[in-house]
Amino acid sequence: MQTDLDLLIIGAGCAGLSLGVQLAKMKERAPKVLLLEQRTVYENDRTWCFWGQQENAYSDLVNHEWSKLTIQSKKEAISLDCSFAPYQILSSDRFYEKALQSIALNPLLDLRMGSSLLKEPKWQQGWWYFETTFGQLRTKSVVDTRPKALHDLKRTKLWQSFLGYEIECDQARFDPNTAVLMDFYKANSEFVGFNYVLPQSEKRALIEFTVFAEQPYLEDDLVDKLEESVAQYIGSQGYRILRKESGMIPMGLAIDDISSSTPDAHPSYIRAGLTAGAARPATGYAFQRIQHWAVQCANSLSQSGVPTTHAKDFFLLRKMDDIFLNVIRNNPELGPSLFMALFSRVDCKRVVRFLSDQGSLLDYLSVVKALPATPFLKEILKISRH
Ligand SMILES: Cc1cc2nc3c(=O)[nH]c(=O)nc-3n(C[C@H](O)[C@H](O)[C@H](O)COP(=O)(O)OP(=O)(O)OC[C@H]3O[C@@H](n4cnc5c(N)ncnc54)[C@H](O)[C@@H]3O)c2cc1C
Repeated sequence: MQTDLDLLIIGAGCAGLSLGVQLAKMKERAPKVLLLEQRTVYENDRTWCFWGQQENAYSDLVNHEWSKLTIQSKKEAISLDCSFAPYQILSSDRFYEKALQSIALNPLLDLRMGSSLLKEPKWQQGWWYFETTFGQLRTKSVVDTRPKALHDLKRTKLWQSFLGYEIECDQARFDPNTAVLMDFYKANSEFVGFNYVLPQSEKRALIEFTVFAEQPYLEDDLVDKLEESVAQYIGSQGYRILRKESGMIPMGLAIDDISSSTPDAHPSYIRAGLTAGAARPATGYAFQRIQHWAVQCANSLSQSGVPTTHAKDFFLLRKMDDIFLNVIRNNPELGPSLFMALFSRVDCKRVVRFLSDQGSLLDYLSVVKALPATPFLKEILKISRH
């Protein structure tokens, strides 16, 4: 292998592969890239959901979509018609397969699996020098998508932890046209917990139990509750677990945690991905934002040779997300009533645009108007005192 590279991508998961795909599309104009990935096989380890009003490079691979969504608490249920922007699901096996094929077609990109760094990159006279299991190399720039460790994310505002089973039942049980976005189970002074149900046929669904809390919850902490949720949805009939998925998504990273640990704060070394600001703070949705970033970053590399990190959200959205996360963090017991107010009082198109980063100023104002004033004013006062 030629040892002088234009770009090293560390970590070939969603962000690393998405960038690789955009660069591979440049054919012979692509930079010379090495993707270093520690896993040895790609498995169907997750599913990505998003509203389908924005096309992305994987829109043709979507497994299923829903034009109706339900949000419910013990007291009420709201049904939303989102046929204007169906809620879509993409399984990671389809994404990985397409991404790996696209990258393999361009000889300027080299994906090495089962590999990692032996020595962190060091900047010297215009190059990043680094050492891998297959030798010493140098590169002009680095995109580092390795997830940060939990102890480096201590100042995260709120954690979204979840565990889900994709199950197949013996008998028809689900409506494949309707997804349950939030079915509130419990909210107390420590967490808001809800079920998330994505049926792909009358017999098959992904059922997840999710918790929003100040601390992340490990998979083991969620098993009992998830099993209760599965029983609640399918009754006593038999079922098989086809697959499981779990995650801990940081919502509202501290700004210093996003920008920190970039060696020498050099513009040719950037961090990207979930723990580097890819997710929308108030929702944890990251897939569409990663696709958007991958296009921007590939353009920047082609024009100036320098990678770009995730763009900051517009000021008003950042402030709204920040206040919303503070309210949930400090008053998780209010979670169900806040979400129910949001979905019942704001026009569905506005909510979907707001949640999927497509909101207009009027959409933001409608969201603010719909939410109960007192807890938000308290948080605004706290922020203005600091
Ligand atoms: C189960 C799950 C479901 C999710 N569902 C949604 C969803 O529905 N919608 C949505 O918008 N977002 C969702 N997300 C959030 C987000 O979109 C995903 O986490 C996404 O995969 C983040 O991409 P990433 O590249 O930052 O991280 P990853 O995809 O995790 O990629 C990081 C890569 O780095 C590799 N790596 C780690 N350490 C090293 C090392 N030392 N050397 C080399 N490689 C290394 C890993 O093996 C991995 O391949 C979900 C997250 C999870 C975990």
